[in-house]
Amino acid sequence: MSQPESQRRAYLEAMGIDVWLPRGHEDAAPDSGLPAAASGADWEDLRGAVSRCTRCELANSRTQTVFGVGNPDADWMIIGEAPGAEEDRRGEPFVGRAGKLLDEMLRAVGQARDQVFIANILKCRPPNNRDPKPDEAASCREYLDAQIAHIEPKIILAVGRIAAQNLLGSDAPVGRLRGRVHDLNGLPLVVTYHPAYLLRSPSQKQKAWDDLCLAMTRLAEARA
Ligand code: URA
Repeated sequence: MSQPESQRRAYLEAMGIDVWLPRGHEDAAPDSGLPAAASGADWEDLRGAVSRCTRCELANSRTQTVFGVGNPDADWMIIGEAPGAEEDRRGEPFVGRAGKLLDEMLRAVGQARDQVFIANILKCRPPNNRDPKPDEAASCREYLDAQIAHIEPKIILAVGRIAAQNLLGSDAPVGRLRGRVHDLNGLPLVVTYHPAYLLRSPSQKQKAWDDLCLAMTRLAEARA
């Protein structure tokens, strides 16, 4: 499937629109008459679909959805777990103390918050900041996949266990997933510790820095 076509299908699926293809033509681009997926209009459609989402019970308790923030054409995509209380209130990911540390980590690799794109496995806050349930992560996955397909980041940084395990379909701990470059449907993905964990365990910051260096090296290779 060509990238624009795969992007278009990801968008449609995320918006709950079934894509029907004639048998034997699964790879042909259907003539839907819809705008090309990479357009800004589609990005805004996706944002709208997320804001109206009622796919799981978190829709009942959220203040608002947290779509993500930053550059939809970013080289770096950062994926965390789920909005917390402050993120739910402000509609932006990583705005609390952990967010400040994430900003510092990004600055260390020469990136500002508005240069990268920051998203989460979940677009809605789980009550009392509990872990996302598998069905919630599954319901939200199409939105995240559509964002990834649109952005086509050169490197994905999964921060924390929930992001890493969900993205990679693994139950391994972060300590075993970090330290190498994974492949997420053709895109390089590096796992590191969640900034909230690093605030509690500052001695792990060196390892997080090693992970960032690995991501930078992979990015440089992609640009070469
Ligand atoms: N932790 C996350 O994983 N995401 C946020 O948006 C905030 C805190």
